[in-house]
Amino acid sequence: MQQPILVQKYGGSSVADPQRLKQVAERVVAAYRQGYRVVVVVSAMGDSTDHLMTLARGMTSHPHRRELDMLLSAGERISMALLSMAIQELGCEAISFTGSQSGILTNDRHFDARIIEVRPIRIQDELERGKIVIVAGFQGMSYKREITTLGRGGSDTTAVALAAALGAEACEICSDVDGIYEADPRVIPEAQQIASLSYEEMEALSRAGAKVLHADAVAWARQNQVALYARSTSSTFGEPSGTLIRRDRDLEDDNLMRPAIACMNDLCWMTLDTTPEHHGKVAAWWKTFHLTPLWSHWNPNAVQSFFRRDDEDLLQRALAHAPPETHPTLHNTPMACISLVGQNMSRDPQWLSRGMEALAAADPDILVYQTHTDALRASFIVEAEHQARAQQILYASCL
Ligand code: ADP
Ligand code: ASP
Ligand code: MG
Repeated sequence: MQQPILVQKYGGSSVADPQRLKQVAERVVAAYRQGYRVVVVVSAMGDSTDHLMTLARGMTSHPHRRELDMLLSAGERISMALLSMAIQELGCEAISFTGSQSGILTNDRHFDARIIEVRPIRIQDELERGKIVIVAGFQGMSYKREITTLGRGGSDTTAVALAAALGAEACEICSDVDGIYEADPRVIPEAQQIASLSYEEMEALSRAGAKVLHADAVAWARQNQVALYARSTSSTFGEPSGTLIRRDRDLEDDNLMRPAIACMNDLCWMTLDTTPEHHGKVAAWWKTFHLTPLWSHWNPNAVQSFFRRDDEDLLQRALAHAPPETHPTLHNTPMACISLVGQNMSRDPQWLSRGMEALAAADPDILVYQTHTDALRASFIVEAEHQARAQQILYASCL
């Protein structure tokens, strides 16, 4: 019988310097020596993707997205080659591949591409030869044969898509935190670790901003039933730890009876001083610039819309071509959307009311601009400068 395949992913902080890369190499080799065929997906070292972005913005305030992809994909190439060398140094055979060499095929939306298909032929060949395969995360190739990247945090998606295509036994996402917590432990140190979550709950948490797992990665795991573990890179390989994301969560786990908290901290907003007869024109204008607001309020005299800050370059370009009847203003105040994530959020009115009452009572400076509820989320939009305090208030009052 063939040995099972394991896909491991190590994030930027786990490969931030040579010492950490060597520790990762040891953990990879431990998995290999325990009988797995191992595929390792790596992120760029430390903050190097941010540094590359800064370099690009030093050249132009509106970098072309194709060139950004050429630039940013280089970050992961550095860590893949170094990790391969570190593994070889430990006496195992290893080979590194870029996303395109790994057969990761995407659509052509530069800087925020979606994986369409994975054809991991070269990876399978090298696994057959007994090698450990290292793959540069966060990148692929479009059907136009252009290099694309998968959006910030996209290496998680590379790992899960490969795990699905290779029929892996499991996919381990290794980072600086030992699993999924009820809230970001950096913001709420007393938050508890969650033992297991369903794909749907984890996807809702990720889409609400918990960057510990990329939302598209969780969606791939759900569609392909990939067993997904969130673990610490410093955990010993093979010892049970972290959080398991799977189809059926354990209903007896108390932690899951209460909601978790996530924050999307990178929003900007626009108001349009316009009237309903121009609303169709507004939507068509956004479409031309590939813009989709996360939320919009279409009032008789104004439209208020929230966008991701990542799209600010598109917004700036769109502003220069706004239809004259729309009178747009892009506001400077950064915004954040904090969500309570759990079952029955829209059916059970207590969550929205507990959140609003607590925020209003605790701090008059925290103004809630909008709320939204859906099946798995109750969300509050506040100014980004208040996001940590608002999360703490919600944690104290709702969990
Ligand atoms: P990597 O660079 O390894 O991909 P990320 O920085 O993307 O790691 O994700 C790990 C971080 O996610 C943690 O350091 C933590 O601050 C943050 N985080 C946000 N929400 C949560 C949560 N609910 N549980 C655990 N970590 C969380
Ligand atoms: N290096 C990319 C980023 O910083 C992708 C990733 O880490 O997943 O967003
Ligand atoms: Mg990440």
